[in-house]
Amino acid sequence: MKSVAYGVENATSPVALMNIERREPGQHDVLIDIMYCGICHSDIHQARNEWGGHSLYPMVPGHEIVGRVSKVGSHAKKFKVGQLVGVGCMVDSCRHCEACQDGVEQYCDDSVFTYNARDPKHGGLTFGGYAERITVDENFVVSVPENLDTKAVAPLLCAGITLYSPLKHWNVQPG
Ligand SMILES: [Zn+2]
Ligand SMILES: [Zn+2]
Repeated sequence: MKSVAYGVENATSPVALMNIERREPGQHDVLIDIMYCGICHSDIHQARNEWGGHSLYPMVPGHEIVGRVSKVGSHAKKFKVGQLVGVGCMVDSCRHCEACQDGVEQYCDDSVFTYNARDPKHGGLTFGGYAERITVDENFVVSVPENLDTKAVAPLLCAGITLYSPLKHWNVQPG
C-alpha cells in the first residue's frame, strides 16, 4: 500500500516528501499508523552517508517509532487493533542462530535494521518511521502503556534504552 514519508534521495538532497510502498500485513505482521518518531543523530549520519559509505537510497530514516496498530495479520497474537505500540532500530532477524534462540536478537549477525537495510524476506529496502505507517513483524514490536506521554515515549525506543540497558546491567546505584 502507498504511504507518504519523509526521506532523502541521496547524501546531499534535502529531506522531502516521498511516496513509499508498505507491504500488506503478512500472517505475523501488524500495520502501525505512526503518531510520532524521534530524530536520533544516527538518522542524520546515515542520511548523509557519514558511516563509511554504507547508506542505501532512497532512505526514509526513523527508528524511534510510536503509533497505533491499525491492522493485524491472521496469525499475529500479541496485539489488537487500536493498541499503542513502539518499534525501535530493528524489524527482523534470522530467527535460528544462537542469539535468536536465546531471545537476544540484537546480537544476531543477520538482524534487519528498521531502515537503511536490505530486507531479505520481503525484498527491497527497509524504510523507517518518518512515514505515516509501517508494517512490522509482531515479534519486533513492543507494547506501550496508555498512561505515558506518547510523544515523549518515542526517544525511549533508541536513546532511552541505550542508557537504561547498561544502568540495569551493571546495577548502577546512587553515587
Ligand atoms: Zn538511535
Ligand atoms: Zn539470528
